[in-house]
Amino acid sequence: MSLPPVGNPLDLSSTIVAAATAPGRGALAIVRLSGPHAHAMAQRAVDRWPAEPRVATLSTVRDAAGGELDQSVVIRYDEPASFTGEDAVEIITHGGPVVSATVVGAFVAFGARLAAPGEFTRRAVLNGKLDILQAEATGDLVSASSRAAQQTALRQLDGGLSRRVLALRDQLIGLEALIAYDIDFPEEDDGPITPARITDAIDQLVAALEALLSTARVGQLVREGAMVVLAGAPNVGKSSLFNALLGESRAIVTALPGTTRDAIEAVIDTPVLPLRLVDTAGLREAMDPVERIGVEVSASYVSRAAVVLACVDGGESLAAIRTALGDDTLRAPTIVAWTKRDLYAPAEDELLGALQSLHAVAAASVSAETGEGLGALVDEITGAVTRGDAAIEHDAPVLTQERHRFAVARALDETSAFRERWLARDVPAPVAAVHLREAVRSLEDLVGAVDVEDILDEVFRRFCVGK
Ligand code: GDP
Repeated sequence: MSLPPVGNPLDLSSTIVAAATAPGRGALAIVRLSGPHAHAMAQRAVDRWPAEPRVATLSTVRDAAGGELDQSVVIRYDEPASFTGEDAVEIITHGGPVVSATVVGAFVAFGARLAAPGEFTRRAVLNGKLDILQAEATGDLVSASSRAAQQTALRQLDGGLSRRVLALRDQLIGLEALIAYDIDFPEEDDGPITPARITDAIDQLVAALEALLSTARVGQLVREGAMVVLAGAPNVGKSSLFNALLGESRAIVTALPGTTRDAIEAVIDTPVLPLRLVDTAGLREAMDPVERIGVEVSASYVSRAAVVLACVDGGESLAAIRTALGDDTLRAPTIVAWTKRDLYAPAEDELLGALQSLHAVAAASVSAETGEGLGALVDEITGAVTRGDAAIEHDAPVLTQERHRFAVARALDETSAFRERWLARDVPAPVAAVHLREAVRSLEDLVGAVDVEDILDEVFRRFCVGK
């Protein structure tokens, strides 16, 4: 059986079909059908057509020749109450590589077209069921590789980021209206709209755009993880701590191939953020002997770290790392990890002394042997990475993609340019207000209020079929 090629995703008159579940062995698979002829086609395939929408109905599913393909659960959705907003059918078939493929094949024989990647979600956007940011969140949720990414995607799916962006756009439009009023009634200097009021409104907008833009850092941390570099003298217990932290997290542990060559790296999944632990001592044979003198950590890792975990087990190792790290005030936040607590547990003031001596933000004593203190250490690490980030602390919407960062940065640039012109009063206000129009446009691009098709192409490039 040869299948027709994937058609034009802009064509809403066709009925599309795809397996929504990953191919391979599994208990169940879902075949999704959506479009104007979805119901008619499904009625040809099933013996028992569901009497009502959204009610699971067990039925035999047959191909065009009447041959039995499966005993499946069939659910019908009536326009507009479906994911896509169109008439749709979901057929929950038995799993495995053959059954769902033959059911998809039967629908193609009935005239359906194979869906392009992301085409179901695309139709949901075109039919007003989701906005662009929510569609992106759907993609992010499916490809989330950490709990933090999952939570961020869920918040975006809820529309939080869209609401924030639209509120800022409305504020910009409000400012445009104030300027227009000022142009129309310039003599009313001490009327209801004073220049100070306009300046205030601009300042508020600039601050709000800056705050939103700053969440791009959190978005990047959630996507890529925060790099935590273990540093310390030989034998201080770095590798043991590294392994204990991996074991303790009892969560998804992924090695990131290709990101490090001179260190061992692994990702632990905390509820707040994925942490990329880097242990340069783990590959000590490969290390430059010069670099190993005193302290094992390469300067290049320390410079890229989100947190430096300074491992010490007593006065000598503390002095060694103190010398190695020096007085660099630009260094990432440092946390003292006092190791081998089961052998020797430092007193409070001893820990505090180490903290002060290394200009650290926290200190914890841990044992790789017994697991004591590991949970507290992870909390200190996530706390240090996210300190001062309102977005993480208050579950605020976060810019998760470069596309978002670009649009908000552009809106901020244009608003700042307007502010400069407004304060200098070197061009007429209507000319300066062109910057505000550009800022509005940039935010509208972000949520897909204009030029939806171009943005859809960009967004759905990353999607998989059946979604
Ligand atoms: P590294 O050179 O800094 O990576 O240190 P290692 O992790 O290789 O540890 C050096 C030695 O200290 C090994 O013999 C470990 O078994 C021991 N060690 C490390 N952590 C602990 C701990 O928490 N408790 C005890 N009792 N021994 C530890």
